[in-house]
Amino acid sequence: MKKRKRTKKYSNKKILIISGIIISIIIIFLVIYFLIIDKDNIHPVFSYKTKITIEAGDKVPTVNDYLYKDIEDGKVIVWDDLDIKDGKVYKVGTYYGKFNYDGEERKVTLIVKDTTAPIIEGVNNIEVLAFEEKPNLLEGIIVTDNSLEEIEAVVDGSYDLEKAGEYVLNYVAKDSSSNETKKEFKLIVKENKDVTISKSSKGYTIKNYHGITYIDNIIVVNKTYGLPNNFAPNNLVTINGYIRVVDYVRDAFNNLKSDASDLGLNIYASSGYRSYSDQNYIYNNYVKMDGQSNADTYSARAGYSEHQTGLAIDLNTVDSSFERTSESNWLKDNCYKYGFIIRYPKGKDDITGYVYEPWHIRYVGKDLATKLYNNGDWLTIEEYYGIDSKYK
Ligand SMILES: [Zn+2]
Repeated sequence: MKKRKRTKKYSNKKILIISGIIISIIIIFLVIYFLIIDKDNIHPVFSYKTKITIEAGDKVPTVNDYLYKDIEDGKVIVWDDLDIKDGKVYKVGTYYGKFNYDGEERKVTLIVKDTTAPIIEGVNNIEVLAFEEKPNLLEGIIVTDNSLEEIEAVVDGSYDLEKAGEYVLNYVAKDSSSNETKKEFKLIVKENKDVTISKSSKGYTIKNYHGITYIDNIIVVNKTYGLPNNFAPNNLVTINGYIRVVDYVRDAFNNLKSDASDLGLNIYASSGYRSYSDQNYIYNNYVKMDGQSNADTYSARAGYSEHQTGLAIDLNTVDSSFERTSESNWLKDNCYKYGFIIRYPKGKDDITGYVYEPWHIRYVGKDLATKLYNNGDWLTIEEYYGIDSKYK
């Protein structure tokens, strides 16, 4: 009996001590939690948000947005380095501010994000004629973004302006937060009946554009490839009062003439640009004098003369006596340096369709002229590109 009673008494005391310890731990935990661990977020007296996230272009939050209740008027947040336009924020970033409340300075954070993709306007299908001017696909395209960034659209996809077809392309606009918008459009390249494309025997592309033949952007005129009757270069200038050539040909010729003159050589232009009707008159006179088959070996039919391009010049006496002059000798080894070629070289009659004309130079630019000079063994345009020169 005595023993059991003592045991019961001891047990009650033990329960009391354990309960006391548990209550103390709870109190200590609550004190630590409220005062230390989450002091910033859950104030013992009142609570407020420390951080707000908004979208670029939204209104900047007010003190009341940070306080849980609408309890303050007229208080403003002092921001460090926040660009506000008409009460709105556009620039993505993390910003810090502060305001006083309840006798204390409250620090707040504002995060501005951009999760909205740009807007592309002005998108339409575009129609062009094959081989004509390169269209500006970005003309009329307007890109706007909630971040107010200046964004330029780019065109995604491939197309060929020399091949008729419908090309499905996209305008793509991306803002600095990597939000992207794509807008599809069609580039419709229409067939162009005024342009034909063929290949030379050496694989060069021969482009006939409105009756004018080009290989590598070089105009080709010979007995196979003529010019339209009304063709005339639009940048003709005079060399010496009445002889006309294209402006850059005059400049090249003046350099050639001046360098030759320094060596005591007298090179002068005797004929330059000739219209279709000028050529018609000249050729018909030769035919009357010499018969057509003879005339065809040294004079071009109207519409087939290189002189109609404004790129060719006949020099000095324009006859076979020129071949024996120092001027002719110098010319055939130096004209390429100025971008000119001896267009109808010696012994190439069957290829060019014309007898040797040491006086007739043609401007093709220094690159091609150097290749055709071929270290003194002049190549013809016909040989180089692999084309014919024969009347049909
Ligand atoms: Zn000529």
